[in-house]
Amino acid sequence: EKTAPRRPIAQLDDAAANRIAAGEVVERPASAVKELVENALDAGARRVDIAYADGGKTLIAVEDDGHGIPAAELPLALSRHATSKIDGSDLLNIHSFGFRGEALPSLGAVARLTLTSRAEGAPEGATLTVRSGTAAPVRPAARSTGTRVEVADLFRATPARLKFLRTDRAEAQAISETVKRLAMAAPEVGFTLRDISAGGEGRTVFRADPGMGPEALPARLRQVLGREFIENALAIDAPREALRLTGYAALPTYSRGAAVAQFLFVNGRPVKDKLLTGALRAAYSDFLSRDRHPAAALFITCPAELVDVNVHPAKAEVRFRDPGLARGLIVSGLRHALAAAGHRASSTVSG
Ligand code: ADP
Ligand code: MG
Repeated sequence: EKTAPRRPIAQLDDAAANRIAAGEVVERPASAVKELVENALDAGARRVDIAYADGGKTLIAVEDDGHGIPAAELPLALSRHATSKIDGSDLLNIHSFGFRGEALPSLGAVARLTLTSRAEGAPEGATLTVRSGTAAPVRPAARSTGTRVEVADLFRATPARLKFLRTDRAEAQAISETVKRLAMAAPEVGFTLRDISAGGEGRTVFRADPGMGPEALPARLRQVLGREFIENALAIDAPREALRLTGYAALPTYSRGAAVAQFLFVNGRPVKDKLLTGALRAAYSDFLSRDRHPAAALFITCPAELVDVNVHPAKAEVRFRDPGLARGLIVSGLRHALAAAGHRASSTVSG
């Protein structure tokens, strides 16, 4: 017994396809911020300035001094599956945050998006606004080399989505966490995050000066995670076959009741990965009771072909070709460092 008459198969138009993609790529204001900041970093920015109003619900603006977009390519930047970052032939050879060509068209489908950019070497800038998937013509605009993207009234046209957002305060908190994660991934880049809900220059929520050389990472971690973390953390540098683990892991005495201070990066990309957080827990199992959580900011680097980043639209998950090797790298790398530190501590006590 048929319940519904069959409709003929029809191709969805671009606007509908983009709204569907937006459902996966842009869950909340913080995901828009993530995509825009990642684009700025991919463009080689030295500075990224982020502003939001009302928890990002009414306005998100991300400005960078990266290489910009030529005026002639602005409409393409807003078209689906259009990217300057890969040619599509090798999805296991990705060295940029972006590669799906989905963020800007998705945002253009669920918000009013204004893209203003001046490409390196171009005599002037250009700007383009999309509203519910429909783009206005490109116009000339004054600006220095780099890009500014404004996302206004996110989800206003999709009330179902809007209803799922949390309070302005909670959304602002998520934005701040997203920016801090990316700031740890790019310690040589300067960041500012401002809440401009009350107008004017706004209130600075987070600020990190651009770092240089080997001191950039510890300095950035001090800015983001606090002096106490870095003063109680061991510097890690552990190789295992083609993988390498670096970063900082807190001494067991600096553990926390909640797993709020665990930051993991794979080839520079912030990830939330059960395999890796499980390995982190296992590494500390001899040093911490089960209700305590280790604090750490750890970076795994490996040849791009050993890790698949094309697992999830928001790219928060990755898949290692050899998961056991990644787990072993963390477990043994941290255990060695912790044991060595413990040994030093006890030998100091015994004189
Ligand atoms: P992806 O990042 O996956 O390529 P996006 O939709 O995020 O897809 O961006 C589309 C394209 O627009 C990018 O490939 C890039 O060429 C260009 N672009 C977007 N943001 C910036 C930026 N801040 N600076 C320079 N180019 C940008
Ligand atoms: Mg992108």
